[in-house]
Amino acid sequence: MTTVAAYAAPAARAPLERTTIERRAVGENDVLIDIAYVGICHSDIHQAREGWGKAIFPMVPGHEITGVVTEVGPGVTKFEVGDRAGVGCMADSCRECENCRAGLEQYCADGPIWTYNATGKDGQPTYGGYSQKIVVDENYVVRVPDALSLDTAAPLLCAGITTYSPLRHWNVGPGKKVAVIGLGGLGHMGVQIAHALGADVTVLSQSLRKKDDGLRLGADHYRATSDPATFEELAGTFDLILNTVSAPLDFAAYFSLLRTDGALVNLGLPEEPVQITLQSLSGNRRSVSSSGIGGIAETQEMLDFCAEHQVAAEIELIRADQVNEAYERVLASDVRYRFVIDTATI
Ligand code: NAP
Ligand code: ZN
Ligand code: ZN
Repeated sequence: MTTVAAYAAPAARAPLERTTIERRAVGENDVLIDIAYVGICHSDIHQAREGWGKAIFPMVPGHEITGVVTEVGPGVTKFEVGDRAGVGCMADSCRECENCRAGLEQYCADGPIWTYNATGKDGQPTYGGYSQKIVVDENYVVRVPDALSLDTAAPLLCAGITTYSPLRHWNVGPGKKVAVIGLGGLGHMGVQIAHALGADVTVLSQSLRKKDDGLRLGADHYRATSDPATFEELAGTFDLILNTVSAPLDFAAYFSLLRTDGALVNLGLPEEPVQITLQSLSGNRRSVSSSGIGGIAETQEMLDFCAEHQVAAEIELIRADQVNEAYERVLASDVRYRFVIDTATI
């Protein structure tokens, strides 16, 4: 066991504070990673506030982790000391179910072992990346290509894969019209990746406040959802809409923007129930679907894609003692476009 400095929420809704945690000894197939950077995902805030239901405290959030391997177990074959490594939302899974065998570990029948707010195979609570070191089985670790910086690559481990996976699954490419609702952490990655895939990309944001950024990130169009003309003029336009909003929306209004056979893929996970009427989906064979992060192999594919296309997050690098302030700014949609903690400041 190693004692490691970390930032933790001692209880639901309590401010995060500096503490120490124990990391397990490096096992046969484990790698020890010196964490350099960790992104702040809105999911960290939902969980630290128990917005999704009962959670495990103290909680060390953080599932957008990049760093360097400093020790490997005797059975490790994929990593060596000095390798640049990343860890996302999952630290393990059953490895035997249909989904795990298909590379869809995020949909593991037993539920994946989340990087934090879960119980590990050793029966101990898992603790995330707001900490200086982490021990993870090598099969749940990905390689960060040299062409990516460790700080701007960290958010790719959740925001990047969560948008890349549905864009690929719904075959986005040239000739496809994609809309992204919400220009936050997920949204700004979705725009860049959809653009890199060759799609025509529209941002649907609450206001035009971030329009210049959206266009610079690769959007072809940027519309305010507060303007009713947006919904009139874009009716029947999109093949695919990615919803990245962390709060409930008027889904009927967004379904009307889909063309025949279009799909709205929901990524945002609001704490409150949302209402969807089946009448609002009927006609034009529209569908509503969901998507959760991505599998381990797909996460590696996404990192290699981002390296090739020079896609990364736009970040505001902060000290660990600024984390509570950063949470408030994320909740106020005042993030451009991901806060990343420099873990040397923990
Ligand atoms: P974020 O950075 O806070 O971005 C969310 C964006 O949604 C905001 O920047 C804002 O964009 C828009 N928004 C916020 N409140 C709104 C409201 N009341 N009405 C309309 N628009 C609003 O959050 P994130 O880290 O990208 O995460 C977004 C959601 O996805 C969270 O619920 C998170 O838990 C979930 N998530 C899901 C997965 C998955 O696997 N499915 C993975 C990661 C995260 P504008 O200012 O442009 O309107
Ligand atoms: Zn996340
Ligand atoms: Zn499984």
